[in-house]
Amino acid sequence: MNWLSDIIRPRIRSLVEPKEVPDNLWQKCKSCEGMLFHRDLEAAHNVCYHCGYHLRLPVKERLDLMFDDGKYERMALPQVAYDPLKFKDRKKYADRLKESQNKTGLKEAITVAKGTIGGQPVVIAAFNFSFMGGSMGAGVGEAIVVGAEEAVKTNSAFIAIPASGGARMQEGMLSLIQMPRSIIAVEMVKDAGLPYIVLLTDPTTGGVSASFAMVGDIHLAEPGSTIGFAGRRVIEETVRETLPDDFQTAEYLKEHGIVDIVVARSELHETLDRILNLLMGGASSAKSASKNTSGKKAAGGKGKSGGKGKNKKGAPTAKANSQVAAATEAVKSYKKPKVQKAETPKAAASKG
Ligand SMILES: [Zn+2]
Repeated sequence: MNWLSDIIRPRIRSLVEPKEVPDNLWQKCKSCEGMLFHRDLEAAHNVCYHCGYHLRLPVKERLDLMFDDGKYERMALPQVAYDPLKFKDRKKYADRLKESQNKTGLKEAITVAKGTIGGQPVVIAAFNFSFMGGSMGAGVGEAIVVGAEEAVKTNSAFIAIPASGGARMQEGMLSLIQMPRSIIAVEMVKDAGLPYIVLLTDPTTGGVSASFAMVGDIHLAEPGSTIGFAGRRVIEETVRETLPDDFQTAEYLKEHGIVDIVVARSELHETLDRILNLLMGGASSAKSASKNTSGKKAAGGKGKSGGKGKNKKGAPTAKANSQVAAATEAVKSYKKPKVQKAETPKAAASKG
């Protein structure tokens, strides 16, 4: 035994070399590579305190941040037909689902909660990206419908916060159906003359960006978020052109008219407070403000909300309203057979 190399050297090394830092206490900022201490990062709501880069924020923290005094009520989400296709790739879909539920402690990739922001009643549907990439399946679509219905019932604004890779492929066609369904759901909110606001967060892509996430009365986005439909590489290979560096970022989309405000997380509550009080504060001001918004967006085909919905209590404005009524009916009739049919096998599967 060589005491010099076996004993003395390790001892000296332990004195000179820095101790390894446990992973969970520190993390590296993706943008500036600065080290971030977990407690400081938490206090900054997951915003890098060196460069302002917005890291992803778990849903609970987001809701705490957004609602007045961090007070809100989570809504129960209805049971849907999970895994009706008995889908299996490398792993069973049912197992993946269970894994995500255990990992996140959440039932689905979406959380719906109600409370107030700036004193105005609000229902928020927020995606959990850590749950299967925030993918939209039947459960998520159902939650959006439930959130929208609750907003209409309680005269609240509806805020959607997507953070999603798109449709949930394991549910095949059933996940794609959620695209028109979610559109119809938010259309109910608009028809009731209530604000529908979207907060685009990192990432908003695929089927989610191709449905409810792009039809808000007002689009907010977090700085630096990736927002788009197809991925950058796919587009580059298709159009055979090099895209600008900031392509598909919140800032790029603001420049091109898709996003209205890029808002830092620290100013999120205050910004929503201002918007909601402008839109919902007084009856008359709400009407005109809402009209202005829809007028601004008319070019993008988003002009259906606002003033029109105010007629709901009186005489409905003929065709448009009857179309929405039919669409609303479609949502309801779609939902009912699905839930009932699905419940028995699902309940049995989850218990077994
Ligand atoms: Zn940074």
